[in-house]
Amino acid sequence: MRPVCPRCGKETDLLENGMCAECRLRHASPVKVHTPETLRVCRGCGAVFEGRWVDVDDIEQVIRRRVLDSIEVAPEAKDVDIEMSLAQMSSNMYRVEGKVVANERNWPFVLHIRLAYESCPSCSRRSGGYFEAVVQVRSYARSPTEAELERVRHTVDVLFSRLREKGERLAFLTKEERVRGGIDLYVGSAKAAKKLCTEVLSQMGGTLTTSSTLAGRRDGRDVYRITYALRLPGLSAGDVVSYKGEPHVVVGVRDRVHLEPLYGRGSRHVPLDEPMDVLGKLSNVISTTVLEEDATALLVLHPSTLTPVWVRRVEGVHAGDELGVLVVGSELLAIPKRYL
Ligand SMILES: [Zn+2]
Ligand SMILES: [Zn+2]
Repeated sequence: MRPVCPRCGKETDLLENGMCAECRLRHASPVKVHTPETLRVCRGCGAVFEGRWVDVDDIEQVIRRRVLDSIEVAPEAKDVDIEMSLAQMSSNMYRVEGKVVANERNWPFVLHIRLAYESCPSCSRRSGGYFEAVVQVRSYARSPTEAELERVRHTVDVLFSRLREKGERLAFLTKEERVRGGIDLYVGSAKAAKKLCTEVLSQMGGTLTTSSTLAGRRDGRDVYRITYALRLPGLSAGDVVSYKGEPHVVVGVRDRVHLEPLYGRGSRHVPLDEPMDVLGKLSNVISTTVLEEDATALLVLHPSTLTPVWVRRVEGVHAGDELGVLVVGSELLAIPKRYL
């Protein structure tokens, strides 16, 4: 005769602990709760250590995951669900209360997660002034403008936080130094510095030269410090320049300057380091009235000194018409209609 389970009254093959297998599953706890490890948190950047240092947006999410990792549920348990609520007890302690729902029963638990604060390696390097590369931001033709430097700084912010999110933890700016002709950016990671240069070049044009010097040895290996000399074009589309004694309009800038002669046809691409004087910008052209004309010249009033000045004749403009001029010191540059 088969034994009868005293709990459910059903016949069974084997009684163990005085129950059939089905009752054992229902009554024995399918849940084991382990003590979670202390959570190491960087006091500088808030990163947590999970095998390696990772940036986190929400530490409570990390704690929830830790709790889930600490709860072991028997694989044969049915309809498993885990609920929990977190309470921060102090700066370094969270209390987590919750329950595991399994086999149509609740298995409550209370856990304490301890937080230990320290400095992650990238924060301690950063505060120690660590850098692998220097990006020298300079410009052809003149010093970089404040607007250009702001644009570079903005690129640093956006790019470096993206790189840090991707795990490039040394993508930080150690310091910025103002120097004659521009700024020097000290960057934690040489890789991040290189990416910064590539990004700035693609946004603003210019040229890049790289050099490296031996900075010492670490862990038996030579450590090089890399210098990226980044030179912005110093010119932008719409600038009017004097090139080889003739006025030209800058139509575009990449790693070369694309020029069009102000009076004449054709265009040319010249290297960024060709000597050029900036005369002004097309956006600063002002309008004045033509008083007289002859075969080669137009007489206009100088807009600031109000004295009559002869300027070069441009196509399609006659006495009585409006003429766009660029003020270059005491002289005026007549601007052909196609640039207005
Ligand atoms: Zn039973
Ligand atoms: Zn940190």
